[in-house]
Amino acid sequence: MAQKTGQCLCGAVTFRGNTAETILACHCGQCQRWTGGGPYYAVRVSDLELSGAEMVRAYHASEWGERAVCATCGTTIYWKMQGKPPHSVAAGLLDDQSGMRVTEEIFVDYRAEWMSPFEGATQSTEAQEYAKLEEYMAGQKT
Ligand SMILES: [Zn+2]
Ligand SMILES: [Zn+2]
Repeated sequence: MAQKTGQCLCGAVTFRGNTAETILACHCGQCQRWTGGGPYYAVRVSDLELSGAEMVRAYHASEWGERAVCATCGTTIYWKMQGKPPHSVAAGLLDDQSGMRVTEEIFVDYRAEWMSPFEGATQSTEAQEYAKLEEYMAGQKT
């Protein structure tokens, strides 16, 4: 983990936090539309300090997920569970992306035909991800 800074395209939303060097790529249909042809590249972050939070607009595309964008420039900022703090940010917002690599790909059954898998990254399907989500949801109720 390293202390890094980042911002949206217009600069209204800036942040700092301890970020991982590994990137998770989500190929689901929602992420493809959300990012304009993604996957969505998520980097784990802790101690996230967000400035310009009033410019962050949240969109609920599912019953559990929340997608945050900058209200001015539309930049993808983060995906998180509803009612929880964000644990990741979009990799492309970081000012310094040196040494980072994609280690995990999810919803790979939805990966665009024109996109190649990342070498060495773990591959997880929709069914595998929904099994993890159900486990997580069950854990939240107890
Ligand atoms: Zn912006
Ligand atoms: Zn996704």
